[in-house]
Amino acid sequence: MTTIEHILLILLLASLYFNWKLIQRIQSALRAKKKALRDSKRLMMRAEEAQSQTIVDKRRFIEALGEPFILIGPSGHISMANSHALALFREKLEGRHINTLSVNNELLPFIREAFVNHGSTTKEFTLSGESSPQHLNSSITAWQLDSAIVDSPILEKRIIIRNVTQNYQTNQMRRDFVANASHELRTPLTIIMGYIENLMEDGFLKEQPELSVKFLGTMFQNSQRLMHLIEDMLMISKLESGQKALLKEEWFPLKEIIEDTFARLDSIRERKQATLQCSIPQDWYIYGDSFYWAQILFNLTENALKQNSGPNLKISIEAELSPEYCHLYVNDNGVGIPTEAIPYLFNRFYRVEKNLSSEIKGTGLGLSIVKHAIEAHDCHISATSTPHEKTTFHISIPLSRFKEKN
Ligand code: ATP
Ligand code: MG
Repeated sequence: MTTIEHILLILLLASLYFNWKLIQRIQSALRAKKKALRDSKRLMMRAEEAQSQTIVDKRRFIEALGEPFILIGPSGHISMANSHALALFREKLEGRHINTLSVNNELLPFIREAFVNHGSTTKEFTLSGESSPQHLNSSITAWQLDSAIVDSPILEKRIIIRNVTQNYQTNQMRRDFVANASHELRTPLTIIMGYIENLMEDGFLKEQPELSVKFLGTMFQNSQRLMHLIEDMLMISKLESGQKALLKEEWFPLKEIIEDTFARLDSIRERKQATLQCSIPQDWYIYGDSFYWAQILFNLTENALKQNSGPNLKISIEAELSPEYCHLYVNDNGVGIPTEAIPYLFNRFYRVEKNLSSEIKGTGLGLSIVKHAIEAHDCHISATSTPHEKTTFHISIPLSRFKEKN
């Protein structure tokens, strides 16, 4: 082999060696790139997983709020809503623009107003039964809308709509009570004032002594009515305060209380030529405040006597035991109560219109007191009526409050 051939061979081997090295370097660079790609993919997947976990957590959180919740993006599109919001709006929410929602027309203006308002807002409003979530079964519902801006990661508006119906109803009841109470107090007071004016006229007392005495009698009756009203209202307020500690509870014989009640009502029973019966064993005892139980049985028996006339009027108090309760029934065979009036019977100041007559006096507070007193004793009361056949007030007393003395 010549020298030139040697040199050529060395050059060839050298070039082969460099090429092989180059290929190796390219291969390792490729491997590194692939690894970097794999790593970045893994990182992306992890980020996606973390993001979807955050969304799952967010969803779980807004669901747990237990109140309708929606999140509105800056463009007005709803990015998140919980199932309570779906029940209120009654249409698909996520991904929709608030201006394209259409089902709950009573609610939508409040949502749009909260969205365009800068900053936080709180607003209270009511919805009719039709626009309220079906499961609430209410004729009117009250809501408090509370909106605020959140900025994670973009500026969004969160809206929570709290159901404040119970509060609204309590306030409404209070307003009604004040209005009704004022009206009821005003009537006897106006009568008393009218008579006082007459009596104060010059010489009236001297010139018309007989009429003056009659006026005084009417004034006395109306003062009694005022006193009765105030006592009833005080009793309701005491019972409504829910202070069970006010009750003086002890074991007392049920029949004794009923016999006392019948004795107190004997003059009106005689006038109505009615029959009062009680078929309760002598040794049945109830645990409770006998003052309130006397009030309960008096109101129920007085109603049965007052609303009806004789001579075939029969009022009976019966009882029976079941595995969980001692059941007490106050029955009469009088005019009865129309079915449509039954749901309102225990409301304050409620009186059945059909039965209203100037002769039957009452304020409509008696049954309200009865119900409160019954509930303060963990008992339950309901009414059923077939006019002219049988009207029954049914009281269920838990057996923990009953004993048969032996
Ligand atoms: P108050 O008891 O305050 O003097 P009231 O008797 O009118 O007045 P409630 O005892 O609350 O009021 O009774 C409400 C209404 O229910 C009565 O006005 C009457 O119309 C009706 N009612 C109650 N019990 C009977 C009954 N046994 N039969 C027919 N109607 C009844
Ligand atoms: Mg009554």
